[in-house]
This record gives sequence, C-alpha cells and structure tokens, in this order.
Amino acid sequence: MAGALLGSDVPVQTIEPPMAPAPVVPRGDRPAGVEAMDWQTLRQAVADCTACKLCSGRRQTVFGVGHLRAHWMVVGEAPGEQEDIQGEPFVGKSGQLLDNMLRALGLSRRETPPPGGEGSAYDAARQVYIANTLKCRPPGNRNPEPDELAQCEPFLIRQIALVQPRIILAMGRFAVQSLLRSNEPVGRLRGRVHRYQGVPLIVTYHPAYLLRNPEDKARAWDDLCLAAETAAGLAGD
Ligand code: SF4
Repeated sequence: MAGALLGSDVPVQTIEPPMAPAPVVPRGDRPAGVEAMDWQTLRQAVADCTACKLCSGRRQTVFGVGHLRAHWMVVGEAPGEQEDIQGEPFVGKSGQLLDNMLRALGLSRRETPPPGGEGSAYDAARQVYIANTLKCRPPGNRNPEPDELAQCEPFLIRQIALVQPRIILAMGRFAVQSLLRSNEPVGRLRGRVHRYQGVPLIVTYHPAYLLRNPEDKARAWDDLCLAAETAAGLAGD
C-alpha cells in the first residue's frame, strides 16, 4: 500500500520500533526453610524462585519427574531448550537416550502405575526420580556458574532427602561437582562406588555428552551395570 502511494519504483523502508528491553526480574532470596519443605511446597518454592540471575531467562522452572519414593535417582545438570519448553528434565534426544538406558536396566521414570500394574512392574525398586542440579536454563546452554549452582543446590538436596533413594546416578560434571564436591573429570570418577550421605553414588557421562561422543557409550553402559550390581547387592542386604 505504501509502495502504491509512493510509486512502485520507490523502495519502502519499514522502520521497526526499537526493541523493548528484556524485563528486569527482581532478584530475591530463596524462601526460608527449604530443608523442611514437603513436595508441594518445594515445587512452588522452585517455581517462584528468583535467587539467581537465571530466573530472568527461563520459560519455566524444571523441577523433577518420577516416582516420589523411587529407589533410583538420576541427577543431571541444567535444563536445555526442550526442558525449558516442556518443564521436564531429560527430554528430547538426550532424554530418549536416558530412557533407553534405563529401560535396558528394567527401570522407568513413570510416575503412576499403568492400569492393573500395581504390585507388578510398578515397583519403587524399578522406578526412577530424575532431577537436575539447576532448575532454570542457562542462556544459550552455557555452563552453570558457581553462584547459580550454590543458590540452587538446597532444592536438589531437599529432593534427595524426600525421595530417599537407595542409589544415585550422577550424570555429568556439574552433578558430580554438586554431590561429591569434586572437580575431577567424570572420566576419573566413574568406575567405582562413591557415597552421598551414605547413599551409593555412581558417576557416569551425561546423555547429551554421549550423543556427541558415542565412543563412550560402552563406558556408560559399564557404569549402569555397576549401578545395577550395587543396587542388587543392597536389595540382598
Ligand atoms: S536456577 Fe535455581 S536458584 Fe536460580 S532462579 Fe532458578 S530455581 Fe532459583
């Protein structure tokens, strides 16, 4: 229309209004008493959290998923783009790989029993609770920063306390740093049984890493077998 008014040979330049600045989300504190919260209160506290700068870029927080008293707990790193969109940890290709790895051990992240499944396949010993070390996506999937990990850590600690897992799989460098207080690379820590507050903890590669480095899948499978052997030993105690 503007071109017709100006003549067809006159280029029309559209001037975009200047982009509005990103909204500034005020930084706050975590609510007090995280260490005593029940599931519902904890979930809400995470959803409302503005304790670190990652709150300003998230679509939503990514709390955790799975059986609330699962014997197995998987701890990952930070939400990626798909997790930020869907609000669930380990979705997309790395989530499919994790699900395949869990399925190979007879494990599932399903929260509720299938119809008629109570007391059969639906069994806390075969269920997994999955959570990340950070609950909000770092921009551009950059590495988490130390202050962000420190601010978010009490939420994960409380999740572990509520689930009371029999065994923990720590996937990736930042999960290991949080749970074992170690800066050693994953490759040096895997292959043996560590302890987190008395709970056996196995270190392994993050599925996203395995997608980029498929030559390490055999090592990850060894780690899962070690975890399964450890869990079976506990069941026999
Ligand atoms: S990453 Fe954790 S500490 Fe930071 S805003 Fe999100 S929930 Fe709060």
